[in-house]
Amino acid sequence: MEFFNIGGVTPFTTIDFPECLSAVFYFKGCVFNCPYCHNREFIERGEPGYPFESFKAFIDERKDFLDAIVFSGGEPLLFIDELEFLADYVKRCGLKVGIHTTGYSPEKLKKIIDKGLIDWAGIDLKADRKNYPFASGTKRNYFEKTAESIEILKNRGVDFEVRTTIFEGLADFEKLAMLIDEYRNLKIANPVFQIYSQNGVPERGIKKCVEDFLSTHSLKVSLRE
Ligand code: SF4
Repeated sequence: MEFFNIGGVTPFTTIDFPECLSAVFYFKGCVFNCPYCHNREFIERGEPGYPFESFKAFIDERKDFLDAIVFSGGEPLLFIDELEFLADYVKRCGLKVGIHTTGYSPEKLKKIIDKGLIDWAGIDLKADRKNYPFASGTKRNYFEKTAESIEILKNRGVDFEVRTTIFEGLADFEKLAMLIDEYRNLKIANPVFQIYSQNGVPERGIKKCVEDFLSTHSLKVSLRE
C-alpha cells in the first residue's frame, strides 16, 4: 500500500493513550455525525493521499521516545486494511498501538485484535440505547454493535476505556440515569464522562448538571474536561 486516508496528525500527546507518550493519526471518514463533533473535518470520507513514506519517516524519527501510536478519526475501523497495514508497521517498530473507535463494527474490531495489533482501545458509548441515534447523528441504532465491541475487548483481555461525551442534548437527569443503567448492564466499572467543551472550555451548565446527578449515584464515574 502506498497511500492512506489520513487527514491529520498530532505529533505528541499524553492524553490519548493512558500513561503513554503517543502520536495520533486521524483517518478521514466517519460512520457517525455526532451533533457535538470536534473533528468535523474528519467526518467526510477523503481520498487516500497520505504517503506511506511520510508515515514511515515520522515513526522512524520518533520511535525511540514515543511509546505508542493512536489511530483516531473519523472512524479508523472504516479503513481496516489501511489500519492493519500501518498498525503492523508500528508494532514492528516496537511501539504500542491504540485505537479510538465508535465500536460500530465488532467484526472488524475482533479481526484486528486477533491479529495482535491493538494494545489499547478508547471506545465511545454515545448514549443510552434509546438516545443512540440522536447522539450519534444516524438513522440506524448502533447501540448493540458498540455493546458487542465492548464484550470483545473484555473477552480478548485488551485494555480499554469506555467514555461518553455529555453534550447539551444528554445533560438531563432522565437521560443520564438511562446512561448509567446501560453502563451497569454492560458491567463497565469505571466509565468516563467527557464534558462537552467549546474552545477547550467545558460548558459550565453541563458540568454542573453532571456533578449534581453523580452526587446522587454510587457508580464511580471519572469526569474529564
Ligand atoms: S464518531 Fe467521533 S469523529 Fe465521528 S462524528 Fe462522532 S465525534 Fe465526530
